[in-house]
Amino acid sequence: MAEPIIRFDNIRKSFGTLTVLDGLSFEVMPGEKLALIGPSGSGKTTILRILMTLEDISGGHIEVCGEQLYHMHKGGAEVPADEAHLHKMRRHIGMVFQHFNLFPHKCVLDNITLAPILTKGEKRAEAEKRGMALLDMVGLADKARAMPSQLSGGQKQRVAIARALALQPRIMLFDEVTSALDPELVEEVLAVMKRLADETDMTMLLVTHEMGFAHEFADRVLFFDRGRIIEQGPPDRIFTNPTQERTQTFLRKII
Ligand code: ADP
Repeated sequence: MAEPIIRFDNIRKSFGTLTVLDGLSFEVMPGEKLALIGPSGSGKTTILRILMTLEDISGGHIEVCGEQLYHMHKGGAEVPADEAHLHKMRRHIGMVFQHFNLFPHKCVLDNITLAPILTKGEKRAEAEKRGMALLDMVGLADKARAMPSQLSGGQKQRVAIARALALQPRIMLFDEVTSALDPELVEEVLAVMKRLADETDMTMLLVTHEMGFAHEFADRVLFFDRGRIIEQGPPDRIFTNPTQERTQTFLRKII
C-alpha cells in the first residue's frame, strides 16, 4: 500500500486572535486530484499557502513526500525546519495563483526557464528545450518570444502553469486560477488543467468555485467550512448526494 504524499496532522493556524484551522488532519495519496471547496474564508487558500511555506503553522505536523515540512531532526531531537530544509522541501511543490505574477520584462520562454536555471543550475539549452515542450503542452509554443503584456489573461495563466511545471514538482497547487479571468478565457485554462490531470501522475490540489470543473477534475472533493472538513468523497456523491446540511446549503447557493 502506497504511503500518503501529503499528511496534515492536527494542524492549527491562527492569524492573531483569529483561528483559521483548528486541528485539521487529512491525507493525500500520490497522484490524487483533490478539489477543496467551501465558503469564502473557510481556510482553503491558507492550506495551500501553508504547503507552499508562504504561511507558517501554529501547531501540528505536516509531512510531504515522506519528510516533515516544518520540522527536522537534529542531534536526535525534532527542531523547527531551517531555511535550507524549507528550500529543499519547496522543490516538491509548484503553485499557480489567481494572479499570474509573470516577470513583465522577460519574454514568455525566459519566464519559464529563469527558475530552473537560477535555482536548479540547469543548462540554458536544456531548460529551453523543456520550456518549449511545456509551452507546446499549454498551446502557446508560438508565443515563446512574446512579452507578457502582449498576452491575454488566459494565455498569461497558461504560461504561469508552464512556469510552475518547469521545476518538475511532484505536487501542484492551484488557487482560484480562473477567478481573475474574463468568462470567455476561463475554458482554455481549465482545458489545460484537465489535460494535466488526465495525462500526468502528479498530485494536484485545486481550490475553486467552479463546481462543474471540480466535478470533472477531482478524484475526491473536500468540503470545508470554518477550517474543518465537513464532508468528503468522490465528486459524484458530493455534488449529487451530499449528506451534510452545510454542504447542501452551499451547493444550492453556488450551483
Ligand atoms: P478561503 O480560501 O477558504 O476563502 P482563506 O484561507 O483565504 O479562506 O482565509 C481564511 C481566513 O483567514 C479568513 O477569515 C481570512 O480573512 C483569514 N486570513 C487569511 N490570510 C490572512 C492574513 N494574512 N492575515 C489575517 N487574516 C488572514
